[in-house]
Amino acid sequence: MANKRDYYEVLGVEKNATQDDIKKAYRKLAIQYHPDRNPGDKTAEEKFKEATEAYEVLSDDEKRPLYDQYGFAGVEGMNQGGAQYSHAFHDFSDLFGGMGGGFSDIFESIFGGGMGGRHAQGGPAHGASLRYDLELTFSEAVYGTKKDIHFKHNEQCETCHGSGGAPGSSKKTCTMCQGMGQIRRSSGFFAVQQTCPQCHGSGTTIDNPCVSCHGTGVQEKNKKMTLTIPAGVDNGKRIAIPHQGDAGENGGTAGDLIVVLHVQPHAYFERDAHDLYCAVPITISQAALGADITVTALDGKRIDLKIPAGTENGKMLRIKGEGVPVTNSSRKGDLYVKIMVQVPQRLTAEQREVLKRYMEIERPTNAPQLIRLSSLAR
Ligand SMILES: [Zn+2]
Ligand SMILES: [Zn+2]
Repeated sequence: MANKRDYYEVLGVEKNATQDDIKKAYRKLAIQYHPDRNPGDKTAEEKFKEATEAYEVLSDDEKRPLYDQYGFAGVEGMNQGGAQYSHAFHDFSDLFGGMGGGFSDIFESIFGGGMGGRHAQGGPAHGASLRYDLELTFSEAVYGTKKDIHFKHNEQCETCHGSGGAPGSSKKTCTMCQGMGQIRRSSGFFAVQQTCPQCHGSGTTIDNPCVSCHGTGVQEKNKKMTLTIPAGVDNGKRIAIPHQGDAGENGGTAGDLIVVLHVQPHAYFERDAHDLYCAVPITISQAALGADITVTALDGKRIDLKIPAGTENGKMLRIKGEGVPVTNSSRKGDLYVKIMVQVPQRLTAEQREVLKRYMEIERPTNAPQLIRLSSLAR
């Protein structure tokens, strides 16, 4: 511990740096020095470890004050050698998450499925599943559509066929974990077992890594697909595309591509499961006398609708079978039309005369009275 650099100096941040500053500084260093990006480069590996250790302490609400007060002695034993990886790695999702698609791409390409997936010692490991957020218009979700999507995922390296080794290279037992894939570290009173940071749990390292994939066995590839979105999907629905996530390792299956649907609101229509809702205006005379009107449905179809005489404002009329299709079925929800009686804001002289005349012959009510609030509130 004699030559250790101050953690703040390692991350290049001030003593009063916010958690955000610390994350940003660490992310930059982690990307720059990650061993997968610098195969065989001992200096980079040391810098990566140093930055990770500093991040482990400074991002921890308990450890940071101890370090500030007592220096390395304050956090000694809590934080030895490779033990820091667990906490830091768990934080990667939120380090790189929320940064927009670009960073999750980088996150995936650098760290792959290695954080959680590669436990079996050199055995098959599933590839990471990837998330794709897809925007749909309201109508696309109701009636279905086809969408071209572009994304990056890891495919098995064409040069080494996933072995990670250059032609003629051999695998060696990992020196850090002696081939166990896991290392034990004491952390305070506890001994914790964790994935070996040098071999990522495979138990072996490659003496001569493949140049195409830097020994990872996978390569990031651009992928284009046409997705068929079935009719009737709703906001938040997830569609799993099997095996279109990251490639697996050592013969493991690829992860899935999880497409998360985000449906935009419509200017005039709302939706509740498979029922559609819209509102149409009618005049006071149409409401009183009844009328035949036409309603333009979501698909542009004109639907005849009979307004019964004496229709009250806010009345909901149902048009059966004109709602949202039920996915993979011939059934459909209903269209509900809310009748909004429009009181005229301006009257012509003639209209005023007619209404005045109507008021005179209107059957007078007995006396001032109240009506039930519930019938007004709805
Ligand atoms: Zn390769
Ligand atoms: Zn190892």
